[in-house]
Formats: sequence, C-alpha cells, structure tokens
Amino acid sequence: MKVTLLGTGSPLPSATCAGPSTLVQAGGQNILVDAGRAVVMRLAGAMCPPPLVSAVLLTHLHSDHICDLNDVVTTRWVASPAATPLDIWGPVGTRAMVEGMIAMLAADVSYRLDHHDDLRAGIGMAVNVVEVEPGDSFHIGEVSVSVHRTDHRPVAPTIGFRIEAGGKSAALAGDTIPCPELDDLCRGADLYVQTVVREDLVRTFAPLVPIGERFLDILDYHSTVQQAAQTASRAGVGTLVLTHYVPAIQPGGEDEWRVLAAEHFSGPIVVGPDLTSVEA
Ligand SMILES: [Zn+2]
Ligand SMILES: [Zn+2]
Repeated sequence: MKVTLLGTGSPLPSATCAGPSTLVQAGGQNILVDAGRAVVMRLAGAMCPPPLVSAVLLTHLHSDHICDLNDVVTTRWVASPAATPLDIWGPVGTRAMVEGMIAMLAADVSYRLDHHDDLRAGIGMAVNVVEVEPGDSFHIGEVSVSVHRTDHRPVAPTIGFRIEAGGKSAALAGDTIPCPELDDLCRGADLYVQTVVREDLVRTFAPLVPIGERFLDILDYHSTVQQAAQTASRAGVGTLVLTHYVPAIQPGGEDEWRVLAAEHFSGPIVVGPDLTSVEA
C-alpha cells in the first residue's frame, strides 16, 4: 500500500502547494481522496493521470477539497480510450454538488462531442455518485473501504475513510478535530493521514492579515499538529502522515513540524512537500 500526498496545501494560495488531495495505491487500485487545486498536475507528477484513477473518495464538500474535481472528470473522459463511469463516493450532498459541476461543464461537453466522433460513440462524461454515511462500507475491486464520522463542525456531514488491502490499512481522516470516532477510524492503522494546522503560527499571523478574525476561525475545526500526534498515539497507528499545512511549510521547514509532533507520538512521522509518498 502506497500513499502519496498529491497536494499538501489548504485554501491559502501557494505557489508550491497544491490543494488537499491524496492518492492511495493498493490492491491494484488508484484511489483519489479529495480533489483540491491542481490535483491533475499532481496526478501527472505521481505517474497516475486521471484515466488511471479507479475511484474518487470525498471527505467533505469544502471548496479546497473539491475545487478541481471537474478537471479530474473532464480529463479522465477526454483522455480515456474507452470511458467507463467514474465512481465518486462522498457524504450526503455530493450528488447535488456533482450535478451542478456537470451542468457547469455543459458547453465544454457539447464542443467535444461535436468535434470527436469516438467520444459521441462512448457513454459520455458519466460519473456514478454514491453518497455514504458513517457505518457504511464498500469495495473498490479487492480494496475494502469503511466510512467513519469526523468532527469538522459547523461543517457537516464530514467523513473519513479507512482503506484496507493485502493486510495493510490507511486512515484518511480529512479535516477534523480529535474525537472518539476519529480514534476508531485510526485504531491500529498502518498509515494515518491527518490534515493539520499550526496553532502557534496561525495565532502569530492572524493580527498581521486583513482577515485575521476569519483566519483564527480555522482553529475551531482542524487538528493541530500536536493533536494529530496525540490521536496517532491513542490509536496506536504505525506511521503518522501530516498534510494540509496551514500555513504552508517554508522550504526546509519540515523538521520543525516533525519535532512538534514527535513530542506526542514516538513512531515515524511523515512531513514533506507535494508528491511525498510513504509505503506500508
Ligand atoms: Zn474543511
Ligand atoms: Zn481543508
């Protein structure tokens, strides 16, 4: 099982960090978890362009986690020799979001159908949306996936995914504060991927930016680096993988983040730029 941090960024614009998205490769499947800004560029960087994506899992509908889903869907369609529907699993609300997205693409779809006979002969830009809730489970090929409640309130619903294949497991938590359901999601997982914020830096920068009050609000519903490490310890995970860095990590600054986490978790801690990967 291989996990690649496609995008380690957040809503904050960055020249180097793509938006939140993670690739899980296991059991012969390429599973994309969230589809943030520039996800298709990073999929190319991971040698897994959209036609090779087996399925998309969405943790929640915050724009930074979904804003380039349309690029995944469009590129997969126009670059696939034989298009099959793309399976998209997400929380309640995903269907309406995807329907709106498809509507947004209507002009482009008509241009391409008018121009390319082979696309017209295909099934079109088909997607298969399945809305899931905590407690649900499903399979993608040989890979099993279970759905868990997370706590990103006031944003709801939000879910995390536990992905298992070949005796290995990865917990993809998405945006959440620590909670018992998160501990259940992560318990004994080989890899635990958590989106995090640096509380100390957010509090330092907030008074210096025009939207300082709103910037502070992000502390309400994200795990800090330390909290992610505490969750990792409580749940007995193998490796802690941090992503969704707020603020973006300056080049060479990863160790500072790792040290903060290591105060609360004694196992391996992965912190790195886009396209950092780890295997279990
Ligand atoms: Zn969020
Ligand atoms: Zn986020």
